[in-house]
Amino acid sequence: STLPNDPQYPGISAVIPGWFSEISPMWPGEAHSLKVEKILFQGKSDYQNVMVFQSSTYGKVLVLDGVIQLTERDECAYQEMITHLPLCSISNPKKVLVIGGGDGGVLREVARHASVEKIDICEIDKMVVDVSKQFFPDIAVGFEDPRVTLTVGDGVAFLKNVPEGTYDAVIVDSSDPIGPAQELFEKPFFASVAKALRPGGVVCTQAESIWLHMHIIEDIVANCRQIFKGSINYAWTTVPTYPSGMIGFMLCSTEGPLVDFKHPVNPINENDSQQSRPLKFYNSEIHTAAFCLPSFAKRKIGSK
Ligand code: SAM
Repeated sequence: STLPNDPQYPGISAVIPGWFSEISPMWPGEAHSLKVEKILFQGKSDYQNVMVFQSSTYGKVLVLDGVIQLTERDECAYQEMITHLPLCSISNPKKVLVIGGGDGGVLREVARHASVEKIDICEIDKMVVDVSKQFFPDIAVGFEDPRVTLTVGDGVAFLKNVPEGTYDAVIVDSSDPIGPAQELFEKPFFASVAKALRPGGVVCTQAESIWLHMHIIEDIVANCRQIFKGSINYAWTTVPTYPSGMIGFMLCSTEGPLVDFKHPVNPINENDSQQSRPLKFYNSEIHTAAFCLPSFAKRKIGSK
């Protein structure tokens, strides 16, 4: 059914005369809207409602439980930053784990790094992978890299079975902490990430907006300070179609060789990305700039 207000599809109830409005209790009193040209897909997986529509100005849009996950126009600002902030901060990353990220965009970016030998991904929802392959070929292209192994399952459970010290980097490309991603923001999860990393290994997790979710960020920072004994920093990027137009990342390293996230040691060599398109958003200057925080956020988050 595509009837507005069908309780089976909360996302679709927000399509009011030709516009998608992103209404959620996570950002009360505001809702970013995009003009809809055509609804291309809607379905209900075991975990969430999945919708794809063609917008008039941001290309195709992927929506999970009524929340925009990516648009073709601005996905670069998220995928490139969540990937290259951690991977350019260490030399020679070889083994990388992605949690979530079923669209494949982070994989596409990890694959630019020639030093990487193994890319594991654990996404809970196979429908996200299938829909991305069908509607977002320039993003799902990440799955085609021969170094990639996909596990469909819960990232929390996956990490429990990872032998200690396996990965150089873990990237947590999750949805918001309402629904299947809730545990990905909690302390036991961070502890298993730390265990899965080698000494001096790095993690980058999606860490919400300083305009909307400072309390969530403060909790994440407090948890990470207890668990990660290396560096702990908050960075951010602009994504016009995310609530408040920006999103942050928590970057941490485990005890071992010190990681200075603000000064990348492993710049991307454009020649390494043979088949892929040039970087649209990331560069070394924006890497360093991403750690500069507005005063109100700096006071709350601090950094070490
Ligand atoms: N890469 C995206 C972007 O450009 O903004 C958006 C986020 S991605 C689609 C978030 C994914 O995390 C979703 O596909 C969701 O199914 C997945 N996810 C949520 N909870 C999870 C869990 N516990 N384990 C593994 N994946 C999870």
